[in-house]
Amino acid sequence: MSALLDIQNLRVHHRLRGDFFMRHPVRAVDGVSLQIGEGESLGLVGESGCGKSTLARAIVGLAPVQSGAILWRGQNCLRSDARRAVQREARMIFQDPHSSLNPRLRLKRQITEPMAVYRRGDASARLQAAADALSAVGMPADALERFPHQFSGGQKQRLVIARALIMPPALLIADEPVAALDVSVQAQTLNLFASLKSSRRLALLFISHNLAAVNFLCERAAVMYLGRIVEIMPRGANPAHPYTQALRDAVPAAGKTPKTIDGEAPSFSAMPSGCRFHPRCPRAADRCTKEDPALRPLASGGGRVHQVACHFPVGA
Ligand code: SF4
Repeated sequence: MSALLDIQNLRVHHRLRGDFFMRHPVRAVDGVSLQIGEGESLGLVGESGCGKSTLARAIVGLAPVQSGAILWRGQNCLRSDARRAVQREARMIFQDPHSSLNPRLRLKRQITEPMAVYRRGDASARLQAAADALSAVGMPADALERFPHQFSGGQKQRLVIARALIMPPALLIADEPVAALDVSVQAQTLNLFASLKSSRRLALLFISHNLAAVNFLCERAAVMYLGRIVEIMPRGANPAHPYTQALRDAVPAAGKTPKTIDGEAPSFSAMPSGCRFHPRCPRAADRCTKEDPALRPLASGGGRVHQVACHFPVGA
């Protein structure tokens, strides 16, 4: 059976300001392959600016693709008919709920907007669907008559999620959906995603810089560094890539001081030779500066389930 979403060797390159001929392109997504099955949850984790959001935007047609393929139910989304299908069935939730909602419009209009765009149902069917979506995210139906400023940040994110649910999606793409929220409501929002995922059998692409949040919600985690996937691992597995280890050690936990990751990620336009992580890697050896490691199954990790791009994986 084909995957719901099958990303094949995708490249998304940007032009630097003034670089009209793309002599030094920013390789924000540089040969990424990933699959998500029906009802599956995949976490995409990495530091800010590693290409996670660009990848998500490319999936829904918001970032131009250089090469590669995005298959949705087996159809190439770079063709217009399949692109319409992915835009209808994959809904995106952004980091900042404040800018996702129009402050001047009542929520009734904003939450029913997807049904209006796709001409689904009459006015009363749309209102009923909006009330159902609000109930699914724990918000009262009378929110429909109100304006965004009448709600807190956590409530606004719930309203944005309700809008994403009003036409039942097959895939939710959530791009750092709790990063802009108070710490006190982050856990509630993660719990909401967990309950929606199981009650609605939604597939989820959950983007975060927090490996603990990804492990809480997702069956698998894909770790991205400078435009590449460096590790794909099942929930609960020990990280084999030194970068994934560093991300894990950076998560605050009770009784443990979080460690900062050594150094800064190099610029996309000045990519290191060999392994892109070698200037920051505590395990780097001479080979790492010359040979770019491919993503391959970890010998001790159960075949294709756990893959890593490292010459000297931890624990191998
Ligand atoms: Fe570190 Fe070398 Fe592995 Fe890169 S290939 S992560 S530099 S050990």
